[in-house]
Amino acid sequence: MTARWFPDEMPTPAASAETAGWWEAASRHRLVVQRCDQCGRTRHPPGPVCPSCRAVTSDWLELPGTGTVYTYTVVHQAFVPALADRLPYVVIAVELDGATGARLVSNLVDAAPEDVEVGLPVEVVWEDMGPELALPRFRPAGVAPSAPAGARSEGTR
Ligand code: ZN
Repeated sequence: MTARWFPDEMPTPAASAETAGWWEAASRHRLVVQRCDQCGRTRHPPGPVCPSCRAVTSDWLELPGTGTVYTYTVVHQAFVPALADRLPYVVIAVELDGATGARLVSNLVDAAPEDVEVGLPVEVVWEDMGPELALPRFRPAGVAPSAPAGARSEGTR
């Protein structure tokens, strides 16, 4: 069981034909971006055509799961009712290591909202939202994980 930061009632994303491969990799806790197999440009979110060379073929590049905060916002209003008791939470855009120009919108976890800043080094942590759905969150790099309520497993391996 992975750690949990957000409730089951949170709206879940829907996969499309272009994003299905990304979601499938995420379900196995692999962070990938789409890479054009003609010019090599990486992009996110996935799309059918390379914005650089218009090629329609691509593959998936697995990333190390680290990056830096490109920008962020601290959410103090319950735009999503299911998150009312999780306020405030931090939404970040992560500049992903290993994928020039590809950014991923996610959440900063295991950190106080006042700790977020542009350029903060972060690393991916996975939150299993269901048997086929895992979402990448990010925490400050090198910081020991917190134990969200009900998420800490007993004992050690
Ligand atoms: Zn291309």
